[in-house]
Amino acid sequence: MSDINRVRIIGGGTAGWMAAAALSKAMGNVLDIELIESDEIGTVGVGEATIPPIRNLHLLLELEEADFMKAVNGTYKLGIEFRNWGHLGERYFHPFAGFGTDMWAAQFHHYWVKAKQKGEKAQLDEFSYEASLGRAGKFGQTGDHKAAYAYHFDAGLYAKLLRGISEGEGVTRTEGKVVDVTREPESGFIQSVTLESGKVIEGDFFIDCSGFRGLLIEQALETGWEDWGQWLKSDRAIAVQTETTSPPTPYTRATARTCGWQWRIPLQSRVGNGLVYSSEYLSDDEARQTLLNNLDGKPLTDPRPIRFKTGRRLKQWNGNCLALGLSSGFLEPLESTSIHLIQNSIIRFIKLFPSAGINPVEIEQFNRDVKQEIEYIRDFIILHYHVTERTDTPYWKACRDMDVPESLKHKIRLFRETGKIFRENNELFSEPSWIAVMVGQGLLPEAYHPFVDNMSEQDFKNLFARVRTGISGLVAQQPSHLDFINTHCKANAA
Ligand SMILES: Cc1cc2nc3c(=O)[nH]c(=O)nc-3n(C[C@H](O)[C@H](O)[C@H](O)COP(=O)(O)OP(=O)(O)OC[C@H]3O[C@@H](n4cnc5c(N)ncnc54)[C@H](O)[C@@H]3O)c2cc1C
Repeated sequence: MSDINRVRIIGGGTAGWMAAAALSKAMGNVLDIELIESDEIGTVGVGEATIPPIRNLHLLLELEEADFMKAVNGTYKLGIEFRNWGHLGERYFHPFAGFGTDMWAAQFHHYWVKAKQKGEKAQLDEFSYEASLGRAGKFGQTGDHKAAYAYHFDAGLYAKLLRGISEGEGVTRTEGKVVDVTREPESGFIQSVTLESGKVIEGDFFIDCSGFRGLLIEQALETGWEDWGQWLKSDRAIAVQTETTSPPTPYTRATARTCGWQWRIPLQSRVGNGLVYSSEYLSDDEARQTLLNNLDGKPLTDPRPIRFKTGRRLKQWNGNCLALGLSSGFLEPLESTSIHLIQNSIIRFIKLFPSAGINPVEIEQFNRDVKQEIEYIRDFIILHYHVTERTDTPYWKACRDMDVPESLKHKIRLFRETGKIFRENNELFSEPSWIAVMVGQGLLPEAYHPFVDNMSEQDFKNLFARVRTGISGLVAQQPSHLDFINTHCKANAA
């Protein structure tokens, strides 16, 4: 056991620079941090939609929102619009906040289920402020109730911004390709990495941000991998950027196709698009054609193929090596959770930082927490594929008919039979998210909470009218998304 001061980060993608920025901000005075990246290998270059907790990371980094938005060509995100998931031709919104107003024991959706049983036509997401604001193409924070939001940004510009912060806090950057890893014979810990130039870089702790290849965590340490391909069938993506043809939507769009789904992420000066699919059900040529046939604007880049595996590294922290980002596992991008997982792992690592030496009990705590966290998210993503009435292609039939994890079966059954849903431990997606997706994909509960019947007919009607009026009044006060951006955070180069 010895003091840990020299931290080496291998990889300069989103994960590498997030780690460098957060570690140097939090512990820069006591650590010697060096990041090694290879220009020749480059980054995955996608990953442009986020979820609200990213704003907490920016607080740690002392990053002002307007400065950040200008630097990364950013737009706001109020949630995700899903098209064609439960049924062809249907759409629903997964907003970053709940629906209506909750009443003590029963959440608003219980009231909506009762109304639905009595013939109510309105979809649940019509009672979400964020969904209504998004569909109106608006964004703003005027009024008492503030919208929950995250961002869309250019991944390359984000890494550049974080690099600037990191270097300002004293992080050294070395360009070069790691070709060898040396381990201590007794402990098996990583001692140094060797670059193609012959330079040897020693360290006390190594953070593997080398992407899918897992240069340290897998190639050197052979940590092992749990594959989730039986549930998350996609293993490829093809991505292309297009011209902007309309004002940016303040939400991501995820459109289900015959196999997999297509993302649409608007930035201030371009739109990111991509098709996520399974090579078992769709050829690369068909995928490319599907993507190109379904674009709003002219392509600005050549379509770029990306291969991936869904699953998790058996230990994200192994000895004196922590894997972050794609080297630690991947869940597919449907709910934009990868950047969030990087952020959470960094914060968790800082809390457990092994200054006095590697302690197995801290490693065990870390690995236990991240396993639980990612498994909850895995279940939430599987839900989108499994709860569908679509049987129009072999792919969707396979998704619908697949056997899902017990933990997910339980949640679906509880909701179907009782309308109840509970957030477990610190799981990322809270009740409203589960409700949004289950209801949005056609899973209507058979019952509602008895508390609902306590309310008089008149109060029941007033409740719905009050929620509608409250939402439309607030939406009316906000500017268009584009106007808000132009006033507050127009991109430097947009
Ligand atoms: C199709 C797709 C869409 C996605 N969409 C989203 C999204 O919307 N939201 C979200 O949160 N996440 C998304 N993700 C995930 C997100 O892209 C990643 O989590 C994020 O980019 C982090 O990647 P990374 O830094 O781990 O790896 P990479 O970007 O691959 O970076 C790897 C780094 O390691 C370096 N490197 C590799 N080998 C060596 C070597 N031998 N020597 C030196 N350096 C080396 C490279 O030079 C590079 O700098 C998506 C992923 C995919 C595949």
